[in-house]
Amino acid sequence: MDHCSTSDLISLEQALDNMLSLLSPLQQTESITLTAAAGRITATPVISPIDVPPFDNAAMDGYAVRIAELPANAPLPVSGKAFAGVAFNGEWSANSCIRIMTGAPIPAGADAVIMQEQAEVNEQGVRFNAVVHAGQHIRLAGEDIRQGAEVLPAGVMLGATQLPLLASLGVAKVQVIRKLKVAIFSTGDELQPIGQPLQPDQIYDTNRFAVHLMLSQLGCEVIDLGIIRDTPNALRAAFQQADSQADVVISSGGVSVGEADYTQQILDELGQVNFGKLAIKPGKPFAFGKLSKAWFCGLPGNPVSAVLTFYQLVQPLLAKLAGHSGWHLPPRLTARALTPLKKTPGRLDFQRGVFSSNAQGELEVSTTGHQGSHVFSSYSQGNCFIVLERERGSVAVGERVKIEPFNALLRS
Ligand code: AMP
Ligand code: MG
Repeated sequence: MDHCSTSDLISLEQALDNMLSLLSPLQQTESITLTAAAGRITATPVISPIDVPPFDNAAMDGYAVRIAELPANAPLPVSGKAFAGVAFNGEWSANSCIRIMTGAPIPAGADAVIMQEQAEVNEQGVRFNAVVHAGQHIRLAGEDIRQGAEVLPAGVMLGATQLPLLASLGVAKVQVIRKLKVAIFSTGDELQPIGQPLQPDQIYDTNRFAVHLMLSQLGCEVIDLGIIRDTPNALRAAFQQADSQADVVISSGGVSVGEADYTQQILDELGQVNFGKLAIKPGKPFAFGKLSKAWFCGLPGNPVSAVLTFYQLVQPLLAKLAGHSGWHLPPRLTARALTPLKKTPGRLDFQRGVFSSNAQGELEVSTTGHQGSHVFSSYSQGNCFIVLERERGSVAVGERVKIEPFNALLRS
């Protein structure tokens, strides 16, 4: 139960700004092959080593012609052929044309390609039924990309739209920022790893599984330190080990005020960590700071809150550290509420919802149901957050609300 006033809670934007202002991207880079580069971030701009296309070539199957030779109505004999990968290198006699296929190099002297649909072939040659413009159906060398041009800036994530582009330039290796190393563990005497039978008063460890998965999706190297018991010695040892091995340490549980929560005490010994109370729901308690070497994020224990704070706070933080400069969450959209939404003013609420577009193309959203911070199924049933402003109260059917579609981390 929340008994404290909400005015001393820090807003999500403020917390995020504070955190991001402290971080700078990793500096170490490595050169890797294109086939291993999916999901990696460019460390330097990529410069094209060639013109694309590399030579003038035909955009259509048809005939390469010299426009000045096009007779009023007489057929032109065919002097030779040019195929993709096999140029015409013969003697191009005067007053003739060259059969040419898409992608074939344009024979020297040709100034247009006439598509075969506009050609009539007989024994004397080819008669063209077309108005011909200089340069038509010719793709010029360098028309797409010039040699020496920047094709990608630094800080871009390499994926299905960037890597084939680099392949088209013959770029075999790319300089990327090294992977982030993230150490994770869950705290709690009640936690049991999956695969073990549950004792009475135990629950399965959801958070480590969720965080591990999301980190893998973000391209991080994960060091999984397991479940740590709520004793000062176990916690201290886990934090020290994590700090020595990783760029970022992420724990869950033990960041709220509770009897077994030694985390704060240990972290005061090991580094500079701020235990914040955020004006968001779910996810009020969240710790952030620096250990002796690594950054530290302490997620709340409740799985719904742990995933929300990871998604809204840790994800942007990791993107900045990883050097992913263009990273952002999907933009918030406006939708009409199809179900009532319960809310008390005081915190920015991230309810889980299902949105779709109706027959008129307008967005509509329904709640996934119970919004308790232990109801993890609300994520698997939803496809967006319904983001309700801090001072807003409950929402009636028909009211407009902001929604934030899940990104790939939460999308099924
Ligand atoms: P805590 O923040 O440690 O006080 O935990 C808050 C609530 O979240 C308690 O009900 C815990 O049992 C639960 N919890 C903590 N860690 C986990 C976890 N890794 N997986 C599932 N539930 C957890
Ligand atoms: Mg705990």
